[in-house]
Amino acid sequence: MNKLGVPAAAAYPQPSESAAARLLNLVHLTGSVSRAEATAQLALPRSTASEAVGELVELGLIAQGPPARQAGASRGRPSPQLYPDPAGPVVVAARLDSSEAELAVVGLGGAVGHRRRIPLTAKGKVPKRTFSALAGWMREAVAESGRPCAGAAVGLAGMVRATDGLVHSALHLDWKSVPAQEILAAELPEIPRVEVGKDALFAALAEHHRGAGRGARILLMLTCEHVGIGGAVLQQGIPFTGAGNAVEAGHIVVDPTGVPCSCGMRGCLEVSADGRALGDPAEVSDLLRRAAAGEPSAVARIGAAAANLGRALASLTNLFDPDRVVVSGLLGEYLRIAPDRIHAELTASVVARTQSPTVVAGSVASPVLIGAAERAFERLLAYPRLLAEAV
Ligand SMILES: [Zn+2]
Repeated sequence: MNKLGVPAAAAYPQPSESAAARLLNLVHLTGSVSRAEATAQLALPRSTASEAVGELVELGLIAQGPPARQAGASRGRPSPQLYPDPAGPVVVAARLDSSEAELAVVGLGGAVGHRRRIPLTAKGKVPKRTFSALAGWMREAVAESGRPCAGAAVGLAGMVRATDGLVHSALHLDWKSVPAQEILAAELPEIPRVEVGKDALFAALAEHHRGAGRGARILLMLTCEHVGIGGAVLQQGIPFTGAGNAVEAGHIVVDPTGVPCSCGMRGCLEVSADGRALGDPAEVSDLLRRAAAGEPSAVARIGAAAANLGRALASLTNLFDPDRVVVSGLLGEYLRIAPDRIHAELTASVVARTQSPTVVAGSVASPVLIGAAERAFERLLAYPRLLAEAV
């Protein structure tokens, strides 16, 4: 683990702490950094830094450019700027929901390109067909980029086992027990790492690396597009996954007498605070608009859902003691419109009364896609020689 909180990927051929890996992480997260700054920030001896730069340049991962002009940087020799090699490797990331697949090719440093949205037909939602088509689109997007591919990751809403990408259930897609990662990996044998994961986990990684979760020690992420609420917890960037299915935050019970949930319980967070709790899906955006404008009946409905969110946050805070909570999608709207209702419930947590987490809205656009890309890069970042030794 380095001080930027980049997770060490387990079981890779070399530990992520190599100087080259740490430097590559820094260039990836900053997009551009001077050699002197990098050497100081990573506390590397000059000769080690120089070797690491040489290795990464030779591997085609980073490039060196002329020093950036900086006010006040007049002392000493100017230091060259390090940035991702524009011809270097990419990853391909995707997000699947009930109506479409969205995918993009992402380079080191986080530059997003070759982005597309492809509608899914009902027939196309059969898992094998979905992944076969998705693999084709992914391969095409990578070929268009003309760059080597270091990994692929696909995020979807549902209960997805972190250990092997088995989709236990995905309401949107009507899938049950689908070995999604195994299917996709078989379709993309040329890509060194292929992963299918839970959307909330990828969103958490995106916020941790590039958004509202930056610098958090324990980050709790809750996401909601319309149906279902996903959760994830990162401890210094490392996901807490239990045996694979931990942090099913959508199924925290907030009202034991509430409406039945697909999981078999009653009054789970997701049925009490996702779009279904607000009524007709077609009217949700109108309702949010009216509530933001202060119309009392709309404020009351959003407030009730926000209070349910706060109740779940109280339980989750008791369990995980996060210092930061990031809420995104519809839940971000609740925070914007009815923060008091959320905070009032949160203070019921004995842990929050000791030290309350900061609750903020997500700040990364397309967090699932961006987080999937971060995940797909993990192996290369931990082991910069990955592609060189694969050939
Ligand atoms: Zn439930």
